[in-house]
Amino acid sequence: MFVGHYAAALAAKAIEPRAPLWTLVAGAQLVDIGWAALIMTGVEKVRFDPELPGSTLDLYHMPWTHSLPAAVIWALGALLLARLLLRLPWGAAVAIGAVVFSHWVLDWLVHRPDLLLWPGGEKVGLGFWNYPVPEATLEMGLIALAGGAWTWVRARQGESLWPALAFMAFLLAVQMLGQFTEPAGSVAAFGRTALVLYLVVVAVSALADWRGKKRAAS
Ligand SMILES: [Zn+2]
Repeated sequence: MFVGHYAAALAAKAIEPRAPLWTLVAGAQLVDIGWAALIMTGVEKVRFDPELPGSTLDLYHMPWTHSLPAAVIWALGALLLARLLLRLPWGAAVAIGAVVFSHWVLDWLVHRPDLLLWPGGEKVGLGFWNYPVPEATLEMGLIALAGGAWTWVRARQGESLWPALAFMAFLLAVQMLGQFTEPAGSVAAFGRTALVLYLVVVAVSALADWRGKKRAAS
């Protein structure tokens, strides 16, 4: 799951507009931002297996980012940072924490069993990744639903719709790009590319949060 994670950010933005979009977007991929940094440093491990159907990622060791207890800790950490560092209202901080945790749930749908339930315990994952076309459809469907809800909320608040529509189009473009590029080169290079991509999406989302008011129809 890649762009599908951002559906959680868009849905949360529709429900709790006081949370800046960039915090929700960073939250949706926070676990993967940590993962990209940890595979670059070799703390967590991945290998590429072209024999695998769909995604070629064999994520055989990622206890610090993608185990269930780790996901809970990342979510609570993000909630506290949002509250204490960014001084966001409690509702917004809880929304950010929930979005961070949603990453694990969405990964559980698509990953092959590589998500630890507890340290040294069972690994879970429904493996929807093995069916690339329905999986990509699911991701885009989630974006359309959640993005539609956010666009509707903006319309009700009299805000310009263009930033929301442009951000959704940008996510679609990123999804297309991901669909046709297979990971190549070293794990460190792959981690670096992923990290840059996650941060670019965060930066673009900050622009998309523009609250331009629609010109009053007269
Ligand atoms: Zn992940």
